[in-house]
Amino acid sequence: MSMIASGPVLSQPALAPRGVYNFSAGPGCLPEEVLLQAREDIWNLMGSGFGIMEHSHRGKTFDKVLAEAEADCRKIANIPANYKILFLTGGATAQNWMVPMNLLPQGGTADYVTTGYWAQKSFEHAKPFGAVREAFSSKSENFKFVPQKDSEIAYDAKAAYAHYTSNNTIMGTEFHWVPTPPKGVPLVCDMSSDIFAGPLDVTKFGLIYAGAQKNLGTAGTTVVIVHEDLAKKKVRENPEFLRYETFAANESRPNTPPTFNIYLTGQVFKWILRKGGLEPMAKFNAEKAKLIYDAVDGSGGFYKGHARPDSRSLMNITFRLPTEELDTKFISEAAKQGMVDMKGHRSTGGVRASVYNAMPRAGCVKLVDFMKEFMKKNG
Ligand SMILES: *Cc1c(COP(=O)(O)O)cnc(C)c1O
Repeated sequence: MSMIASGPVLSQPALAPRGVYNFSAGPGCLPEEVLLQAREDIWNLMGSGFGIMEHSHRGKTFDKVLAEAEADCRKIANIPANYKILFLTGGATAQNWMVPMNLLPQGGTADYVTTGYWAQKSFEHAKPFGAVREAFSSKSENFKFVPQKDSEIAYDAKAAYAHYTSNNTIMGTEFHWVPTPPKGVPLVCDMSSDIFAGPLDVTKFGLIYAGAQKNLGTAGTTVVIVHEDLAKKKVRENPEFLRYETFAANESRPNTPPTFNIYLTGQVFKWILRKGGLEPMAKFNAEKAKLIYDAVDGSGGFYKGHARPDSRSLMNITFRLPTEELDTKFISEAAKQGMVDMKGHRSTGGVRASVYNAMPRAGCVKLVDFMKEFMKKNG
């Protein structure tokens, strides 16, 4: 008999409850049922005798993983066949240069709607590729809001595309509508922190990108949904592996793709479908966020929200307490009670509770109880 153990010889012990709600802005919390499935599949995927991370990216088992991830993504948002779904690497940040590199011709212009930290990064990273302009900025108002209608955005009808960020993860603001640039100007969106949080009509967009680690899975893959014409667009000589077309023509695997991350994102897609899809998800998220915003609004000014009410994010809820000392105390006492990672981004300070799709309602209820308790003791 071989000395090497083969196949699943260990039976997995039951896991202890984790006892923590993770309010991190990213990587964020994941659905527990997805993690439990992953635990099985890391060991032995689909009865193959070995795990997802060990399978060839060209093998039959991974063929199935990839095909299902794409098909489920398509099903969730009813994505038509003339849009490509790509699983890339480099995070959302790599899209900040990959978009202009592939869509913005030398001497051309592109519009950017700068509504926060990441939106501004997108704008800055595009500068080497052509003339980019800010068609809207809320910087002078500390990024407290996003535009509410197209007339607030100074579009250029000749722009190669118009870029915006649908949810400003750091500021805690979100678009609750989709901008419409002038005819012929494709809309590009960084949807990293609110993709699939609610209904999405991809036909309004030329290209959507989202780092997976907020609402879709783990850091390591970025989902790109791109109209086939834009995927083929060639505005300059780019290295082969920096073109969308290379990935579109090769099922996202011209080389070794991040197989585990694609698998996990696929499991999150299946979870969204089991929950009934994007309509129920929107309802669920609105209800969770309302619990917390109501606690902010009902605090008589003890908790002060950062976002203008019409621009409030349902994903990242940002607020401050009367002093920085109280912010710090709030964050550390919450952590002691099992509500972790609520420190605001280094650029803004304050408190940020991220309540992505995977945050259970019970986590929000617990946070609200804590907010009331904390105010009573410190108000
Ligand atoms: C987190 C985030 C990014 C940066 O993502 P990386 O994967 O770290 O590159 C960009 N845009 C938005 C909206 C984000 O939330």
